[in-house]
Amino acid sequence: MQKRYLFTPGPTPVPPEVLAATAEPIVHHRGLDFREIYERSLARLGEVYCTSSPVLLFSASGTGAMDSAVTNLTAAGDRVAVVVAGAFGERWTKICAAYGLDVQRIDYAWGEVPDPVEIGSAVAESGVDLVFCTQSETSTGVVADVQAIKAAVGEATLVVDAVSSLGAVPLETDAWEIDVAVSGSQKALMCPPGLAMASVADHLWERLPSSRSFYFDWRATRKAQEAFDSAFTPAVSLIRGLDVALGMLLDAGLEAAFERHVRLGRATRAGVKAMGLELFSPDDDSSAVVTAIRTPEGIESPALLRHLRERHGVTLAPGQGALKPNVFRIGHIGWFDIFDIAAALAALELALTELGADIERGAAVGRAFEAYEQHVTA
Ligand SMILES: *Cc1c(COP(=O)(O)O)cnc(C)c1O
Repeated sequence: MQKRYLFTPGPTPVPPEVLAATAEPIVHHRGLDFREIYERSLARLGEVYCTSSPVLLFSASGTGAMDSAVTNLTAAGDRVAVVVAGAFGERWTKICAAYGLDVQRIDYAWGEVPDPVEIGSAVAESGVDLVFCTQSETSTGVVADVQAIKAAVGEATLVVDAVSSLGAVPLETDAWEIDVAVSGSQKALMCPPGLAMASVADHLWERLPSSRSFYFDWRATRKAQEAFDSAFTPAVSLIRGLDVALGMLLDAGLEAAFERHVRLGRATRAGVKAMGLELFSPDDDSSAVVTAIRTPEGIESPALLRHLRERHGVTLAPGQGALKPNVFRIGHIGWFDIFDIAAALAALELALTELGADIERGAAVGRAFEAYEQHVTA
C-alpha cells in the first residue's frame, strides 16, 4: 500500500477531528440533536465571513452557491458584468448564459490581476447594476482586491466567488460592503466537499426578484435557517464536520490562518524558484492560496502529475483550460503546514529529475523553510 499525499487546491486535506465528526451517527435533521449543531455552525460561518447578515448553507459543491446567486439575483434577459481572468471567471459567464443573461465581459489575460479602476469605469459606462467577480482565481493563483473592486463599482451589487479564499485570505464581508460572497466547504474551510454557502447583505432582501431555482431559493432557505431548521434534508454529517472545522479555525484565529497562508505561499515560491522553475502565479504575498508553476522545457504537466501520483503517491493539480499542458499547481489552502510544502517540493524535485528535467537539486526545501520562517509584518 502506497501512502497518498493530497496537495491540490481543492479538495484539500481534512483534519482527523473533522473526519471523525463526519463519521458520527446520523441524527434527525428536524430534532433538537441537529438543531444545536446547525445553530452553532451557522453562527461560526457568520464569524468567518465577518458578517452579521445571514449566511445561507446548501448541500452542493461551490458551484451550487454560484448558481444560487445567479438564479436569485436576476431575471432572464438582464444585463450583468463578469470579470473574467481565469477558469472560474469563465464559470460565472457560463452560469449567466445558462440562465439567459446578457453578459458584458470584463476580460483579463489568465494570470493578470484585475484592475479595480478599470472595472469601475467599465461598469459605470455600461450602467449594469450587477457584477460578478472572483476573489481567488484558483486557476492562476491571482487574488483580486475585492475591497477595491466594490469601492470602484459603487452602487452596483457585487457578487464575489470566495470559494478558495474564504478562511485563507481576508474577506471582511460587512466592512467592505460585499453584497454577496459564495464559498464551499472543501478549500480553506478544511472540510470534505459537499457544502456551499452564500452571504447575502441585508439591503438586498427587499428587492430580490423571485428565485428562478426551487432548490436554491434564498428566501425559503433563509426562512428555514432562521428557525434553525432546514428547507430540505441537509447533509447532516458534513455540517457536523463543518462545525468542528470552523471551531478549529476560529479558536486558532482568522489572523493566524491568513498569516500562515502568506508564509506557505512564500515558502512554495522560494522552493520552486530554487529548483530553477518559473512561476505562473504572481511572485508576491497576494498569491497566498495556490501557486501555479510552469513546467520546465520538454516536460508536459499531465505526464509530470501522472508520474508523481503513480510513482510517489503525490497528487498536485494540473493547469486549467489552455494552461493544462504547461502549468501545474500546488495548493496551500486550509489544513496545510510547512511540512506539506516540503514534501510537495521534495517529490516534485525527485519526479522532475526522474523525467530528465534539468533542475537544481537539493536547495528547494531549505529555501522554503527560510522563506517560511520570516514572520509577516503587516
Ligand atoms: C473550487 C472553486 C469553485 C467551486 O468548484 P466546485 O467544484 O463546484 O466546488 C468555484 N470557484 C473557485 C474560485 C474555486 O476555487
